[in-house]
Amino acid sequence: MRAWPSPDIPTLSVAGPAVTLHDTASRGPVTTSPEGSARLYVCGITPYDATHLGHAATYVAFDLLNRAWRSAGHDVVYVQNVTDVDDPLLERAAKVKVDWVELAERETELFRQDMTALRVLPPAHYVGAVESIPLVIDLIGRLDELGAIYRVEDDLYYSVSADPAFGAESGWTRERMLEIYPERGGDPERPGKKDPLDCVVWRGRREGEPSWESPWGPGRPGWHVECTAIAQEHLGGAFDVQGGGSDLVFPHHEMCAGHAQVAVPGTPFAQVYSHGGMVGYDGEKMSKSRGNLVFVSALRNSDVDPMAIRLALMRHHYRADWEWVDEELWTAVDDLARWRRALALGAGAPAAPVVEEVLTALADDLDAPRALAAVDSWVDATLGTDGLADTSDPDAAVQLLGVIDAALGLLV
Ligand code: ZN
Repeated sequence: MRAWPSPDIPTLSVAGPAVTLHDTASRGPVTTSPEGSARLYVCGITPYDATHLGHAATYVAFDLLNRAWRSAGHDVVYVQNVTDVDDPLLERAAKVKVDWVELAERETELFRQDMTALRVLPPAHYVGAVESIPLVIDLIGRLDELGAIYRVEDDLYYSVSADPAFGAESGWTRERMLEIYPERGGDPERPGKKDPLDCVVWRGRREGEPSWESPWGPGRPGWHVECTAIAQEHLGGAFDVQGGGSDLVFPHHEMCAGHAQVAVPGTPFAQVYSHGGMVGYDGEKMSKSRGNLVFVSALRNSDVDPMAIRLALMRHHYRADWEWVDEELWTAVDDLARWRRALALGAGAPAAPVVEEVLTALADDLDAPRALAAVDSWVDATLGTDGLADTSDPDAAVQLLGVIDAALGLLV
């Protein structure tokens, strides 16, 4: 599948430090140490609706990781999937009486435009579920040979008991898993399952649904196995980081890890599991099922500068849960105007410490609020909000523009 165009990234004269991230599995910071290229997998969208700010916050967060690694001198191989066939997409297509392929293509294209506008670096491999069906069939075959697959009517299930490390990614108790599973696509009550937590890897053909041939009969791939197959194909085992929103901690990332660790014994799926917080609106988590969404495209269509959207998102630490307030967008618009005024002067307050602080903050668990505060302080000093404008550094604006673009992804 085609990704979106890459913005140019300026080369910085100073390198950033090694990148440390909070790892969900070990519940603490891990300093990443990529061997060769840094390898990143971020779970992509199910394209049945436009990109809302919760999604945008996640993709901007992992864009900061991509950029922090690049600042530290690494090449990055970034892989993202598109779940272009799954229950929510088919349900929405039926409801609005649109062909599901057409709906998926239209919403994927809108997502590309949103990511382009937000200056998110594109993945090297942008991969759809449908085009990955041969990979999925191959992975299920391997799991089947290892005794990790069984059939319930026309559907194939993966046995969570096949992975001795099941539960290690989320760290959740079985009770908590059982409680949350039905809310996130699980079917613990289905008769015939060996363990209520087992998940579907191949859904047998249903009347009126698309299906593809497989050694187990016609059907379509499950969501978890789709991501595992795509990540293994393009990144191999024990890649550096799997990322997504915190609603993917369980079951999605737990199941992905399990599939991979059973298929390739002794090799972890990823080295770090990194999760962004949830964005709320009107007192609830922003989600398609609740319908309380603020769409990136709607803001863009009302002539909001996409850089203000990106800045407003980055004012919150990626791991925090927070609530979108429209006022913050207008604050970001004003902040950008001030930044542009200061940068237009050319000379300004000393830039080197600001560049260092921005790179250091981002390498420290993607601390964008701290990085932005450093730029704010430079703008204050340069404009002389205390009555004493500091223009002692003749190259300040050039250096600041470079790091704001390369590390923060903002074109100002
Ligand atoms: Zn995924």
